[in-house]
Amino acid sequence: MRLEASSAASSLRLMRVFLNTYKGELHMCSRTIKKNRLKSAQQQRFRCYYCGHPMWHQNNHENFARKYRVSLKQVRWFQCTAEHIQARCDGGNNQSSNIVAACRLCNERRHRRPDPLDPEAYRALVTKRISRGKWLPNALVDQF
Ligand SMILES: [Zn+2]
Repeated sequence: MRLEASSAASSLRLMRVFLNTYKGELHMCSRTIKKNRLKSAQQQRFRCYYCGHPMWHQNNHENFARKYRVSLKQVRWFQCTAEHIQARCDGGNNQSSNIVAACRLCNERRHRRPDPLDPEAYRALVTKRISRGKWLPNALVDQF
């Protein structure tokens, strides 16, 4: 009985160590991604890697909405997000060389595709659609 209790306590301790390590890694990852997202956004002059439209960063959405005359509902599409060039599930890391800044619209549409394209192919597709006026939602085409 005593042995079982001690073994349970030891398992619990191990679990705590594991959880704390895991939380620490998650925290580090999100900090690294945020840092590299900002770095990429600055290098791209806060323009989306795919569509080239301006993006807002952090809590700057109200200023952005005023400047580009978009509604507070529409403004979420232009939030700056971190896009992994090589997906994490394919072994891509969070280093700055693997991260570009993309607007939420492009990012979500890329990942919603049933056949995810590689970044260059996707960028070419977005560029083609923009030239035909078929990328941004209709209400926004004249804004940019
Ligand atoms: Zn975009």
